[in-house]
Amino acid sequence: MVGGRSNDNGEEEGGILSFLDENTLEKLPLYDRAGLIDNGEIDANDPARRTPSGEWKIPKFVRFHTYDAGVGLSEIFWQHPYNYTPFMGHNSRVESWGMYPVSLYRLQLSGKCIPKPEVQFLNALKRRKVEQLKAMDLSDLLQSDYTLRIYLSYIYNPSDGVTHRFWRRVRVSGGLRLSVFSDKIIKPLFGWVRNLHAHAFHDHSDGAMFGPKDCNSIDMMHLDKSGLTYIADADWTIAHILSDEGDKMSYHYDFGDNWWHDIELEHVSPPSESTGAVVALGGAGCNPPDGNGLGTHAFADMLDKARSSIVERRKLIKKMFEAMNYSPVGASWPASAPPDFDFDHFDLEATQAAINVALDSPASLPYASKKIVHPLNMDAHKSSATASRIGQHPSQLKRGIAVAQTPVRPGSFIGDGKMFLEEGVNKSRIDRPTNTACASCGSPNDLMACAGCRRRFYCKRECQREHWKRTHRYECAEMSKKK
Ligand SMILES: [Zn+2]
Ligand SMILES: [Zn+2]
Repeated sequence: MVGGRSNDNGEEEGGILSFLDENTLEKLPLYDRAGLIDNGEIDANDPARRTPSGEWKIPKFVRFHTYDAGVGLSEIFWQHPYNYTPFMGHNSRVESWGMYPVSLYRLQLSGKCIPKPEVQFLNALKRRKVEQLKAMDLSDLLQSDYTLRIYLSYIYNPSDGVTHRFWRRVRVSGGLRLSVFSDKIIKPLFGWVRNLHAHAFHDHSDGAMFGPKDCNSIDMMHLDKSGLTYIADADWTIAHILSDEGDKMSYHYDFGDNWWHDIELEHVSPPSESTGAVVALGGAGCNPPDGNGLGTHAFADMLDKARSSIVERRKLIKKMFEAMNYSPVGASWPASAPPDFDFDHFDLEATQAAINVALDSPASLPYASKKIVHPLNMDAHKSSATASRIGQHPSQLKRGIAVAQTPVRPGSFIGDGKMFLEEGVNKSRIDRPTNTACASCGSPNDLMACAGCRRRFYCKRECQREHWKRTHRYECAEMSKKK
């Protein structure tokens, strides 16, 4: 078992919105309770609720809030979660705990005193999954190199309509934590902006979800449509989900825009032939645009239209260059949108370089993720008082973490020059060896901290020597100063 820590820490994990507590709810007129409240037929002391098929039944596991009539809930919530079989979704895979979107009506109905029935149910599924993960025998897989093919789901080459148009092939260790895999490998592979949006891995065998713990990125508000809750991905490795060649999982990036990736295990190398190093092996297609409102399906539609119309093609290129990863907020000049932009171009060397940069950096801090800030007071950017806008009071930032502000450049499509981007950055906090990878090669195995700064980790002496020569000798002393 990897990571002895229990990651099932509390009923509210996963950012469930709780707008109404019991007292507030009592004061609301009936018609404001959005159809959530039963029309008077519920006895506050009776745990039974009417199922969708009309039967009055006491649920086997969940408890209902006094005012919750169970309207909009599927019959499964009257079952015991341990007897629940996840539903198969489209394409013969199970995603989102095998439980597809719950009525949005139910979003508002959550007293602080008792989690929503669906969350109680999913927390039980999480506990069951964690027990299964702990009991897994991974044998050699943690020391085995995996060749993975990662592609944008549902976007196909126009020439055949079958093969995926945007894909990357990469070799990584099966022992890499899912959090590190997301932050330092998948993000640079596709050019996604690190620590901007949330993500979730979906285990296709049972729909179990894994995501960033304590994430407060803006798209977490859509978690209710994206599976409601997940297991902390920092506690488990790729090998916990993928073990046999042909196994697949999904990677859902940005719960608002919705970018879907499939990750397929193509090959497992035996430990004797494995180094743990992260190597980008190939790919096709440009980096998809991040943070401009497009997602998998909207992007696919626009690409389709761009094939037959120059106007649509220019429209898409312009849209691409409004994205955070094409036109960074802090850039001094507006990025120009080249009319001959090639949607199918992939640069292997630049991609490996981006991975190397990510490996040579501290772990991202999802609890203080990037936020675009519009100050109410236009002079606010001159004052340190702006620090709290990150969504955390400065005193809540962990030791060694600072707030970094990047002004949005004038003329940008998202601002008027007064806005800025904020993010919690790691100044001197020391990553745990389990939350990082070798700064030189990306291996998660046998990591030892640099004795000088303790801010970078290495899997072996040669890696430390290589990295020292390449960059670390210029940075080690500086890093160790910032305590
Ligand atoms: Zn190494
Ligand atoms: Zn050092």
